[in-house]
Amino acid sequence: MITDVFCKIINKELDAKIVMEAENWLAIEDINPQAPVHVLIIPKKHFNFIEEADDNDKEILGELMLAIDKVAHEKGIAEKGYRVIINQKEYGGQLVPHFHIHVLGGKKMGPKMIK
Ligand code: AMP
Repeated sequence: MITDVFCKIINKELDAKIVMEAENWLAIEDINPQAPVHVLIIPKKHFNFIEEADDNDKEILGELMLAIDKVAHEKGIAEKGYRVIINQKEYGGQLVPHFHIHVLGGKKMGPKMIK
């Protein structure tokens, strides 16, 4: 059984601040925000890493891309812009083994993305 924290939130076994919800994905406030706006977009279908997705996942991956814009508008950061991050595995700094997209905004960020 898969019991990562995001599966628990999707299954409503754990509380989270829900920003938006759709049939195939959930957007929540990050519990430890790194910017004034920090939202996580999480597919309800569990997969750990992009490499586990295949041609059958084209639709959900497309929906996640479109969800970014929906969340950005919902949070009022679409006009000025924002940053999107997907961490992958150990070297990517991924802490939760359930694929998710970070949407960060609400302040001007520098060009440096690596630290
Ligand atoms: P990553 O390092 O890409 O795996 O990011 C995981 C993110 O999930 C981090 O930014 C955490 O702050 C966030 N996080 C962990 N647990 C929770 C939770 N229960 N609710 C909301 N965000 C969480």
